[in-house]
Amino acid sequence: MKKQYESFFNVLNQAAIISEADVKGNILLVNDKFCEVAGYERNELLGNNHRILNSGMHSKSFFGGMWETISSGQIWTGEICNRSKNGSLYWVNSTIIPVIDELTKEIEKYISVRFEITEQKALEIQLSTAQEKLESTIDELKYYKFALDQHAIVAITNVQGNIIFANEKFCTVSGYSREELLGQNHRLLNSGYHLKDFFKEMYREISRGQTWYGEICNRAKDGSFYWVLTTIVPFLDTHGKPVRYIAIRTDITQRKKDEEIIYQLAFYDPLTKLANRRLLLDRLEQAMNLSQRTQEYGVLLFLDLDKFKPVNDYFGHDVGDALLHEVANRLNECVRKVDTVARFGGDEFVVLLNELGKEPMEVRQNTYYIAEKILKSLNQPYLLHATGNETITHNCSCSIGMVEFVGCSISTDELLKQADCAMYQVKNNGRNGISFFETEKLN
Ligand code: GH3
Ligand code: MG
Repeated sequence: MKKQYESFFNVLNQAAIISEADVKGNILLVNDKFCEVAGYERNELLGNNHRILNSGMHSKSFFGGMWETISSGQIWTGEICNRSKNGSLYWVNSTIIPVIDELTKEIEKYISVRFEITEQKALEIQLSTAQEKLESTIDELKYYKFALDQHAIVAITNVQGNIIFANEKFCTVSGYSREELLGQNHRLLNSGYHLKDFFKEMYREISRGQTWYGEICNRAKDGSFYWVLTTIVPFLDTHGKPVRYIAIRTDITQRKKDEEIIYQLAFYDPLTKLANRRLLLDRLEQAMNLSQRTQEYGVLLFLDLDKFKPVNDYFGHDVGDALLHEVANRLNECVRKVDTVARFGGDEFVVLLNELGKEPMEVRQNTYYIAEKILKSLNQPYLLHATGNETITHNCSCSIGMVEFVGCSISTDELLKQADCAMYQVKNNGRNGISFFETEKLN
């Protein structure tokens, strides 16, 4: 039995840090393990107070509580961080047992048994730091999410394009409830505005794991269109294959409307809605470049209304405006979609006819045909509403100067001048007619 105790104490002696101290904490005895862990020689410790190991990591009240327990004769257990001789810290799980004198019933000394738990403590600290980091990251994510939800339409789809997440803004902007969106294919929002190739190209990119950026026109539940600036990010699996697509969109409908207004103001005549001089010059340049490549003819018609000024003078500016508006409508009806009708300024209009073929005779014939059609159309009486609901019937003719071009042999300005010159020829010849610009006429 005694032998059994002996081996037990041997094992304990090897594993545990053991010491004895008097009632003031002065060290009376230490085992080898104590010296090994604390880094002190035994003689440096004996007679010294236990405070020699104080790490400064605990509060005064921590030790106060400990002393209160043991000095009242009770066993204290707890975790203490000590400082070894070389300054490094080590943690121990400590049990302090007060030894009571049988005769006096007073505390005679304290026996401490400690096990080193530095590694375990380090893990605990690591874990709690990681936990803190995680919590702060989650907090940060919450803020990001909040800000994102306020600003953006967020959707997550599976690889088939079926919606598996929709944020509140998505519902608000699209007009669909979350229940209506979830499980539906994203095609639900297709407006028909984009060509099929547009989405093909988009899917080609995201299915290859690449992020796609672009502007999309979607259709809301009520049928209205809305524009979104879109970023689609594929979530990839470990093999680099997309498993989800996250789409973040911002509503840019208003920006699109503003852009359209700016574009209209920059390139169209506000009264007639026809192309303005700037757009005409741009289209003329394009047409000349195209003709350079195809060697097909184009023709420029320069029109000026005959005796338009008196309309303003007799009936007022509003009636003059209405007439200009009606002239624009008739001109549009006389030409093909590929041609351009522009208001050049005042009562001047320019018609640009493209791709009329390579045969000069045929081009002339076609041009005469179109010019006469225009002349005839503009000669029809105009029913114009004056102020006070009075309807005025007015007849108006025009003078048309024409010039052909093939390639870019002369500048756009020069070509316009030539057409203008041909138009003046008609004016000089009594108006209401057509005339081709002939180079000889300049001489
Ligand atoms: P002509 O046969 O020689 O062309 O004579 P015209 O009376 O048509 O005279 P001209 O072409 O030189 O003058 C065009 C007039 O168009 C001058 C101006 O009062 C008028 N005008 C210019 N812009 C506008 C407009 O935006 N609205 C209206 N109502 N009149 C305009
Ligand atoms: Mg005129």
